Formats: sequence, C-alpha cells, structure tokens
Amino acid sequence: MTTSKGDISKMSFGRTGDGTPVDIYTLRNANGVEARITNYGGILASWKVPDRQGKLGDVVLGCDTLEGYLKGTAYFGCIVGRCANRIAKGRFTLNGVARQLAVNNGPNSLHGGLRGFDKMVWQAAPSATPDGPALELSYLSKDGEEGYPGNLHVKALHTLTRDNGVRIEFTASTDQDTVVNLTNHSYFNLAGKGDVLGHSVQINGDQITPVDGTLIPTGELRPVEGTPFDFRRPALIGARIEDNDEQLKFGGGYDHNWVLRKPLNKLGVMARVAEPASGRVLEVLGTQPGVQFYTGNFLDGTIRGKGGWVYQRREGFCLEPQHFPDSIHHPNFPSAVLQPGETYRHTILYRFSTE
Ligand code: BGC
Repeated sequence: MTTSKGDISKMSFGRTGDGTPVDIYTLRNANGVEARITNYGGILASWKVPDRQGKLGDVVLGCDTLEGYLKGTAYFGCIVGRCANRIAKGRFTLNGVARQLAVNNGPNSLHGGLRGFDKMVWQAAPSATPDGPALELSYLSKDGEEGYPGNLHVKALHTLTRDNGVRIEFTASTDQDTVVNLTNHSYFNLAGKGDVLGHSVQINGDQITPVDGTLIPTGELRPVEGTPFDFRRPALIGARIEDNDEQLKFGGGYDHNWVLRKPLNKLGVMARVAEPASGRVLEVLGTQPGVQFYTGNFLDGTIRGKGGWVYQRREGFCLEPQHFPDSIHHPNFPSAVLQPGETYRHTILYRFSTE
C-alpha cells in the first residue's frame, strides 16, 4: 500500500512452534524513516531514524529472525499485557474472587505471566492513513487466560507518523471486571550500540513509586528531589547510576516507575532522551499516569541480537508508559481495573528528531 504519506508492505517472518504463520510489516514515511513491526507479540523489530547528518540508523534492540524472538528476549520491542510490570505474589482479589497468576519473577508475576501478549500472534490489518502508514493489531485474550478474569478484546493501532514518530493507540474492552495495563517494551539505543550511560535523560515527574527488594512498590510516592532519581533537568544515565542508594541497589540501576506531572489521560511529554554523538533525540509522550524507566540492568550478554551483536548490560533503555506497577494492591494509585461497558484507552507516541 503506497500513498504520498508513505507505504506499508508485508513479508512472511516464519512460523511459531505450533505452526502459526507470522508476518513482518515494513512501514515507511515520506522522510525515508522505516519501522518494522511483526504480529508476533506486536514487536517493533527495527526502527531506522536519521542522525544529525541524516544517516539512518536502527535505534531499537531486537533480533533478525522470528526464532530469535521465540527464544525469549527480555521482551524486546513487544506489547506487554494483560498486565505489564509486577503483581505482588501473583495474586489479587477482585469482586471477592481470589485469582492466582503465574509466579514468573522471584515471588511475583511479571508482564502478563508465562505466555503474555508478547508471545501471542495478533491479527494484523495494514492501512494507509492521512497520518502515515498504519498497522492495526487485534487480539482476544480469553476469560481465564493466564489466570485473568474476563474476555478482553485488545487493539493496538501503530502509525508511523509524518513527523518521525511511532504512535501506538491501545483500546480494550471486557465482559467482566479485570486488570489491564498494556505497554510497549522497546529498548532504545540512540547511538545504535554500546552502553547507554552517555545518553542524557529528562523525565517530567516529581516522584517515583519506590520498591521493595522484589521490585514491588511500597505504596509510597517519594519525591525525587535530592536523589539519583531527579531527572527533572537533563542528566546522563550514567552520572548517578552507581550511587550508594538503596533503590538503585534493588533495581541493579534504574528500574522504577515515575509519577508523571502531566494530567491523567491527557497526552503529554513524559520524557526526553538525547544522545550527543548522533544528535538523535527521542521524546516519549503518553496518556498514562506513569512511566517505567528501565536501564537494561538484566541484559547480561547472553542474548545474540541483530547482526549477531551480543547485547551487554545497559546497552538499551526502556521508557514504558503504564499504570503504576501492582496498582491492584494500592488503592492510592490510579486504578488499573477495567469494567464491562468501559473502554480502556492508552496512547504512546515515541518521536524522533535531532539537535
Ligand atoms: C521491568 C524489569 C524487567 C524487564 C524485563 C521491565 O519492564 O521493570 O524489571 O527485568 O522489564 O525485560
């Protein structure tokens, strides 16, 4: 499909273990910016954007083949759901019914369980929109899947915009009260490779939700003032990451949720990241109340990615717009419960420019 706003094309990406065919779509806008998205897990597999000199480079971590992703890859680029981040002890009670989820991360449940949305093959519908080439991914998560109640119909509309953004518009509806927290889990490296410690980050939040040693929020909203978590002015990722700070120790670096300043459910700038050598700048906009800033602390040199490159610790960072982690256990956090008749709406806009 080609228009003056760009084009979208489809290629086979192979088959999953049970033989389900998977495709990969290439979206290109009029500036030559190119994003590749597969309907396996909704993974943003590559995204080529210009540097200061106009040279295109891939700014997301990932694999060259479907086999790479099937092995499990630290959630590179995928859609995370039904509930992104952690639920303490993998247990919650909703409307008096106790639910047990898979415990897959220490004592907790992480990123939707053993087979979350990142491991599902989504229905794909490509289109050419006035805003740019788009790919709508749909998935029906059945009642009881991974222990969650309610049939949840999910859509994730990805658009490569004219201004070099990838916009992801999630919607979801349910037939029973359930927990919903979707996000995109792209690992960015604005220089293409190498550690991200020299990237400069700004986050528009005055507080974080500090965690215990298993990375579950304590419920406190803690001011960032005077801590290594103060990114209200731009600071290098590496400047304070090794400080003697209990929260940094728990995360092995940054792996925390920021309470954003912008109004809830309104699209606003959450964070801005600049990489001085390439001149690339990433802005993260979204509608959700929080953003998880994760500095790839658990990458350990065991994953072979694109072009055979082995990803080392802190070679990528994630900014995952989301509900606060473990919201179901914290009445003081914005609610992540979705009820029948309501529509869950969540927009993420990752946008590139240079300086
Ligand atoms: C979490 C990390 C986790 C990573 C998995 C992030 O969203 O906050 O703790 O290790 O996902 O890739």
